[in-house]
Amino acid sequence: MPSVLIIEDDQRIRELVTRVLSEKGYEVGGAATALDGLQRIVQDSPDVVILDMGLPDLDGRELLKMIRAITDVPVVVATARGEDAEVIRTLDSGADDYLIKPFSVEQLEARLRAVLRRSAADSSIMPIVVGGIQIHVEARVATLDGRALQLSPKEFDLLVFLANRVGVVVSRRQIMAEVWRQPYGGSEKTVDVHISWLRKKLGETAAQSRYIETVHGVGIKLVDPT
Ligand code: CA
Repeated sequence: MPSVLIIEDDQRIRELVTRVLSEKGYEVGGAATALDGLQRIVQDSPDVVILDMGLPDLDGRELLKMIRAITDVPVVVATARGEDAEVIRTLDSGADDYLIKPFSVEQLEARLRAVLRRSAADSSIMPIVVGGIQIHVEARVATLDGRALQLSPKEFDLLVFLANRVGVVVSRRQIMAEVWRQPYGGSEKTVDVHISWLRKKLGETAAQSRYIETVHGVGIKLVDPT
């Protein structure tokens, strides 16, 4: 079962989350301060971290940066500050997802499942194969018909995002939230530009698509043309 570390100074929340997640079969550890949390991440290497942004000894975003300096462990941030700008800053600091307090344990568990699923897919040794496209996620290498694709980091992330959802239509907003980590704001134009670059590198155009299909008024999907 996945192991979870909750870094939270509010004892009631820590105990509640620990109890409920333990009942669901997670292995749960807790820390009440940022420094204790950091130490536990190093010692226990949990599969996912729940991080309260309001800790007594260190600002949550500072801790997040320190965590990111040592590990890629998925981090779900719990924050009382719901302003969009704050949320975006938090995601930019390296959080994988966030919850606005007060949150339900069901909400929390859904977020945990989602980030764990993503991190399992990311660390998979098997390449993702879609027709002539092969993606080695860990090595961050993608090939088309055996030829290496020269992709920018965002183009690569976008391709992985689409390849993990072959045949499923995704909206620009969804891409903005998942690939750019900007659930609010951010320009959908950015997404369009990257899609057209990615198309070009896959040797296709919007008018003559093979892999990336536009579904008008909804979004795009990656398809296997073979
Ligand atoms: Ca707190």
